Amino acid sequence: MKFYDTYSGKIVEFKPLHKGEVRMYTCGPTVYDYAHIGNFRSYIFEDIVRRTFKYFGYKVTQVMNITDVDDKTIKKSAELGISLKDYTEKYTQAFFEDIDTLRIERAEFYPKATEHIKEMVELIKKLLDKGYAYIKEDAIYYDISKFENYGALSKIDVKNLRKGVRIQIDEYDKDNVQDFALWKFKREGEPFWKTEIGEGRPGWHIECSAMSMKYLGETFDIHMGGVDNIFPHHENEIAQSEGATGKKFVNYWIHIHHLIVNGEKMSKSKGNFYTLRDLLRIGYKPEAIRFLLLSTHYRKTLNFTMEALKQATKNVERVFNFYYDLKTTVFKEKEESSEVKEIIGNSEKKFRAALEDDFNVSLATSTLFEFIKKINKIQSAGGIGRKDSELVLNSLNNYNKIFDILPKKLETEIEEEMYKLIKEREKARKEKNYKRADEIRDILKDKGIILEDTQSGVRWKKRSDIS
Ligand code: AMP
Ligand code: ZN
Repeated sequence: MKFYDTYSGKIVEFKPLHKGEVRMYTCGPTVYDYAHIGNFRSYIFEDIVRRTFKYFGYKVTQVMNITDVDDKTIKKSAELGISLKDYTEKYTQAFFEDIDTLRIERAEFYPKATEHIKEMVELIKKLLDKGYAYIKEDAIYYDISKFENYGALSKIDVKNLRKGVRIQIDEYDKDNVQDFALWKFKREGEPFWKTEIGEGRPGWHIECSAMSMKYLGETFDIHMGGVDNIFPHHENEIAQSEGATGKKFVNYWIHIHHLIVNGEKMSKSKGNFYTLRDLLRIGYKPEAIRFLLLSTHYRKTLNFTMEALKQATKNVERVFNFYYDLKTTVFKEKEESSEVKEIIGNSEKKFRAALEDDFNVSLATSTLFEFIKKINKIQSAGGIGRKDSELVLNSLNNYNKIFDILPKKLETEIEEEMYKLIKEREKARKEKNYKRADEIRDILKDKGIILEDTQSGVRWKKRSDIS
């Protein structure tokens, strides 16, 4: 496996810290609102990374934090006059509903910031002891001039550092490299925790250092997030974690490029966003949204348009129809085809090579469509027998381990009894017993099952699917 590591700025070969295992941390949602599909581009790519490692036999431990205390959640809950907990609970639930809808596999851990105050306080104490942090009236700050490697991830120019300039808010821009707040002392009307380092609440960056190291160890394999996280968030995570432990924090950094609309990053603050729910309401299918978000290479910006979503819908339908035909055709018994075997083998090889090469999902996608096209051609000429069809279906299921766009349950699934009747009709036809064959066709028709004879064998459709 090789992929692009932001820290070294190169494509590197992946070497896990523990043989056969991957431990990865993925920055999660701030639960102050519904996530938008730009956020989901990141989460879906992280899902692809997770599935790719599993596909290659690794055991994956993934942690995704839930930021349930920060400037935004506090402000919004105060505006509505409800508790921070009640407010964030609603959007945490919505987040889980959305990732299930998009078939994003669940991570092993979803730690909440508010449930890890103790760990954050411990970390801040260490930073104070080691001289990386200092106390001011309003907050405890991290002194970035003390951390020699500051800027190594984002390659920001530390020369412009204005020593001792501090910032308390959670987000600040790249032009102002400043000391950031680790712990914000209690302010009127804001939630706070009583701790050894005083009454207050954590800054945003410290939570990811504390929670990643708690669940994955002081050094772990991979840390991911969108490119907007590189600076300051991930830079600050490195400074906090390595300052406290003296050890390397993360071996590989992977960053996902943005989903943009009309040339601008999709974001809440710009108001140019769609939530998943918006798109579902218009009538788009989750599988199509998933497919659109995953099929552009993660190191390219993805320009979101409704046109692209329509195209993704068509592409998903192509895969679905292929699957549907395989599942609803009673294939003829015949010798296995060496050509089919060869196509399956070559395509899967190409697919694996694409994934191993910097998670090249766009190449993996075109490999799948090439595979479908080749098999369809053979199938329409009657060249697929029952055994071939099983191999093809098995291969399609392998692709689906990554893409996950096939229906969970086929609505057209028919009962065993009906299937037996179809088989009986085939037998009757072979024996030229057309009377019985027609009788069966009628019985099935009464049950809403329409038969269609194709080159590869008889195929059924449910009347409800046709209308
Ligand atoms: P946030 O809730 O803003 O902290 O974002 C959660 C995750 O989504 C982070 O990993 C961000 O980098 C990522 N993200 C935010 N906006 C976009 C976007 N337009 N495209 C891709 N990823 C994004
Ligand atoms: Zn984070």
